[in-house]
Amino acid sequence: MLDFYPATLELPKGHFIDGALKPDPNEPIAVRRPSDGAVYSEVPTADAETVDRAVRNARDAQRSSDWAKQAPRARADILRRWADLIDRQCNELAQLEALGSTRPIAQATGWDVPYLAKTIRFFAELADKHGGDVAPTAEGQFGFTVTEPYSVVAAIAPWNFPLVMAGWKLAPALAAGNAVVLKPSELTPLSALHLAKLAIEAGMPAGLFNVVQGDGPTTGDALCRHPDVAKITFTGSTATGAAIMTASAESGIKPVTLELGGKSPQLVFEDADAALAARCVARGILGNAGQVCVSGSRLVVHRRLQDELLERTTALMSQVTPGPTWREATGFSPIISTKQFDRIDSLVKSTVGQGAELLIGGRPLAADDEGAFYAPTILAGVTGEMDAVREEVFGPVLTVQSFEDEEEGLALAEHPVYGLAAGLYTSDLSRALRTIRRLEVGTVWVNRYGRSEDFAIPTGGFKRSGIGKDLGREAFEANLRKKSVLIDIGH
Ligand code: NAD
Repeated sequence: MLDFYPATLELPKGHFIDGALKPDPNEPIAVRRPSDGAVYSEVPTADAETVDRAVRNARDAQRSSDWAKQAPRARADILRRWADLIDRQCNELAQLEALGSTRPIAQATGWDVPYLAKTIRFFAELADKHGGDVAPTAEGQFGFTVTEPYSVVAAIAPWNFPLVMAGWKLAPALAAGNAVVLKPSELTPLSALHLAKLAIEAGMPAGLFNVVQGDGPTTGDALCRHPDVAKITFTGSTATGAAIMTASAESGIKPVTLELGGKSPQLVFEDADAALAARCVARGILGNAGQVCVSGSRLVVHRRLQDELLERTTALMSQVTPGPTWREATGFSPIISTKQFDRIDSLVKSTVGQGAELLIGGRPLAADDEGAFYAPTILAGVTGEMDAVREEVFGPVLTVQSFEDEEEGLALAEHPVYGLAAGLYTSDLSRALRTIRRLEVGTVWVNRYGRSEDFAIPTGGFKRSGIGKDLGREAFEANLRKKSVLIDIGH
């Protein structure tokens, strides 16, 4: 039985610096549970002084500990022990995650926490499988490259999958020998503190992984601009990604990895398996109630298949099980905040005002619910200029457009701004291979939608959906810099 009582949980508080929780004297901000809007804890806002303490502590720990100097296998051993502890404390972590975020306990226990442990193991395995190259120089010279960690990496995470997103950042940076200062979202601050405690229990030197709490403009900005931060890795909205690039440019031209917003199409051709496509489309928009960067929010379907697909998808989208995130039976997530709920509702209403046809949803899920649950919504008859088609809604809202031929389908699938992911459904291999090349997106899923546990496949966006990759060898290598060496050996 995974149900738990929120009031009985022991909640960590403060920042995590130098291996321990640290209180903050400044006025905290209240944090609310998305499931019912109740205040359950508070989060401090690290000012520039606290951020400085965390970053300098991380820098000193990275320099003085064995983390980067020891045989990389020893670092991998600690990371694996950390992953084992995460698995062993799955319930504790999952409860903290479910309490404060939109992740239902069954999903946090069955997927988020085990996935985090597997992410750490994947990058631990890469720790001793990289190095430089010997360059083909003239005989009197010896040239080679060596890879080295940056030192301190700033990681800034969003609220939608707090532990999973933090893991994408932490695991490659730490495996490469860096120290990390993580700022979780101020809306979902607590699970990262428990994660940091487990790192110490696993044997990670104090200071290698620090957590500072706070909002974006105060804490996040101070972290990005700190002179001892050598690299920034961020997941969140495109607007914040742009602010972070500016901060990087103004404070030292630090390399940035940015995983940003999306508006991903589900392109269904007339020869697709309609039942399979409907399952993928429904899952792709209902997961975390659409609060997923790769949410498949734009259905672009061949006119011949449209009626059947909509009938199947509507039926699937009408079968959700909302509820508090601390009940095992809950399958459908609340919206993170009333502000986000109002934004979703206003985008739906304005799109209807622009001429869209509301097929289902467009309203709160249950009038007597205190939490912000939004009904799965389908908007048909839309055009590319309408609000819910242009904007990342970040809610369970699917728009529907139809096409006659491949060219038209591809044109509708393209988004002017975002290029994160796309799903395409066809039984024609040639068509799949042809259309994959034409889609300007970072990830294409064919006859499936969503990530697997193939951590070797990198993920990242084109256009304004991001720069660089999370996961894969690419994410690991992005946390290392290459030094070139040339030695005269002729004399
Ligand atoms: P957000 O941009 O509002 O916040 C993300 C993080 O940035 C938070 O920790 C926030 O405090 C911090 N932040 C805000 N302003 C900052 C600043 N000026 N300097 C430094 N840090 C700052 O995003 P969100 O609402 O938390 O998350 C939702 C967004 O994240 C969506 O757009 C979604 O598509 C995107 N996302 C992308 C991916 C991906 O892999 N591409 C994955 C998950 C979420």
